[in-house]
This record gives sequence, structure tokens and C-alpha cells, in this order.
Amino acid sequence: MRPTPLRNFFWHLGSKNLNFANGKVRSLFQSATVERQGVVSDAVDGSLIEEQTSSCGRLSEDMPKHSNISDMLVDSFGRQHTYLRISLTERCNLRCQYCMPAEGVELTPNSNLLSQNEILRLANLFVSSGVNKIRLTGGEPTIRKDIEDICLQLSSLKGLKTLAMTTNGITLGRKLPKLKECGLNLLNISLDTLVPAKFEFMTRRKGHERVMESINSAVDLGYNPVKVNCVVMRGFNDDEISDFVELTRDKPINVRFIEFMPFDGNVWNVKKLVPYAEMLDRVVKQFTGVQRIQDHPTETAKNFRIEGHQGTVSFITSMTEHFCAGCNRLRLLADGNFKVCLFGPSEVSLRDPLRSGVDDNELIKIIGAAVKRKKASHAGMFDLAKTPNRPMIHIGG
Ligand code: SF4
Repeated sequence: MRPTPLRNFFWHLGSKNLNFANGKVRSLFQSATVERQGVVSDAVDGSLIEEQTSSCGRLSEDMPKHSNISDMLVDSFGRQHTYLRISLTERCNLRCQYCMPAEGVELTPNSNLLSQNEILRLANLFVSSGVNKIRLTGGEPTIRKDIEDICLQLSSLKGLKTLAMTTNGITLGRKLPKLKECGLNLLNISLDTLVPAKFEFMTRRKGHERVMESINSAVDLGYNPVKVNCVVMRGFNDDEISDFVELTRDKPINVRFIEFMPFDGNVWNVKKLVPYAEMLDRVVKQFTGVQRIQDHPTETAKNFRIEGHQGTVSFITSMTEHFCAGCNRLRLLADGNFKVCLFGPSEVSLRDPLRSGVDDNELIKIIGAAVKRKKASHAGMFDLAKTPNRPMIHIGG
């Protein structure tokens, strides 16, 4: 029987005997990283990209300085955290393999999750301290019944410029017109495959068509760009990179290829990781006129335009070339825990002091102390896989 990409991927999922010290694997990623420091090498396309200085290893000096930011949001490296991601729920209508273990995850009892009022009080505190962008995540944020109201309240916070959402798109289509009216102005829709059977395999649910409809209705409603998040996994969807790029030809879609990251229960395996350099190489070989866009210092993605395409292509290189030096993000989880780094295991509860009746000054002290403890960067790809963290569905990405 000939191996198929899907069969190979399934085999990898079951593979637990990883040898992280394997010289070949290490050198693959080392070369990918070296290639991205400075000019991308001729092996990719010497003419393709202007000189880019990686943000890796340099802290904060290029980051924009916000004058009206409170000390609470500034860490010991001078990074100003103006971006808050709020997970609205731990529940989801899909069961993606990279997001949660097959047996599911233990859900926090409802009474221990933040109420709408608690979310709004904390969001107000962050925005009045200098946060100007909030992203709603989950679980799946659109399954929360009060999602429209939450969007309306958040979008009216003075000082908030961007209200974004990351969604799987399953129920988004019918809610989107109202969400747009309520102030949702940036949208990321997750989609890892353009093949319905693979979608069903990966998400353990049906719904591919509905996600495609949501993407199209977001375009029709004028979201520009509509961001499509695609986690690339070797043997599963790495053969679809060109097909995804094709989505950008006639529509203002920004396809974002994300390196596969380790989280508890997702059976991360270095063999499944397709490094940025390799993904870019495939795009360059398939399409002409691929040009790097000058990125903002806090930008997590490496962005490219392609001649003749309405949309753009980006890469999120968390594993082979992290962007911690320009990190400006903080996370509030659905249970009220506050997390200063996606990959840092430490969390502090804001729900408990909130419910014990503390005033804003006390909350500011707790938040500020956690931000000051933030580390310069994550532990590195090989150590991350061994560091305990929550499943992605709890953190919200
Ligand atoms: S790993 Fe942590 S420090 Fe690095 S970019 Fe992500 S959240 Fe920021």
C-alpha cells in the first residue's frame, strides 16, 4: 500500500519515541534559522527579499514607544504591552488534534469562568492603562451567547483601536453582520486544509463548507484583509501550501502559515514541523514576484505580497525564528488567569482578587508584578516540547 500524506500524518501522531538530540533534525532547524538572519539566502531566492534584520536577540530598541502607557504594561526589558488577548470560553465546536487531546480537556465549571461584567472591568483597566488592541479567542468565541454584547461594550472603550477575533468560522457566517455592527474590525479565521475529508479528520467534526462560507462572507462584508490561519503539519497539509496561496489571488485574503507548536496533549513532533524557510522556498518556487513587506517591529508575522495577487501571504515562525524581542501581547484566560507569555507556564489569577473585592490599584499591582516577571523569550523549540503548558484550547493561542 502506497503511503498517503494522511496516512503518514496519522502515523506521526502515534509516534512517541522522539529523539530530540537527533543531529539531522537539529541541523535542519539550525540551518533554517541561520538562513533567516539577515538576507534570505540565494537558495531561496537572492533577489526576493530586501535585507531584513531579525528581531531575535534584540530587545525592545526598535519597538514603538507609546507615551501614554502605564508602567503596569512595561516589562523589565522595556517591552510595552499594548495588545491583550481575551479567551472568552474554553468550549469549542471542533476538536482539532493540535489544539486538544483526543479525550478532550477538563472544562472549568461555569461559576469559575469570568462573567461578562468581570471581563469588561478588566478590559477597561487594561485599555485605560494603554492597551489599544484586544483579540477575542477561545475555545471558540462565537459560541458564547453574549458575544455581540461583549463586542459592543469592548469596542466602545475609549482608546481601543482594534477589536479582533480568532474563530474557527463554523458559526461565524450568520453572526458576522451583527458582530461587525458591534465593532469587530479584524478577523482571523482558522482553516488548515482545503480538502473536506482532511478537515473532518483533523477537527474530528464536519463543517469545511461552513468555514469557506464564513471566509467569503467576511470578504463580502468588507473585511480587508480577511486573515486565514493555517497551521502547517508535515504529511497532513504541507502539500496544500500552493493551494492556500491561490486563495489570495483574487480576494483580499491574508493567508498565514503557522509553524506547528507544542502544547499539552497535541503530540507535537518535530518531524511534523515544516520550518518557515522550507515553506517560503515552496512558495517562491511556485509563484513569481514574491516580495517581502516591511513589517512593524511588533509584527509576529513575516509578510509577503505576490505580484498580481490581491491578498498577501504571511508566516508565523514561532519555532524556527521566534519574535519574542518585539512581543507586545498579554493573555487573559477564560478562567480569569493572566498569562504574560504563550509558552510560559506561570499564571496569576485576576478573578480571585476581583471577586474578593479589591480596587483597581490592587489589580494594577498584581498585573504589573506579573508583567515585570516576563522572560525575555520562550525556552526554545526543543525545551518547549518538554515544558508543561496548558492545551491550546485553554490558552486561546
Ligand atoms: S513566546 Fe512569549 S514572549 Fe515570545 S512572542 Fe510568544 S508570548 Fe511573546
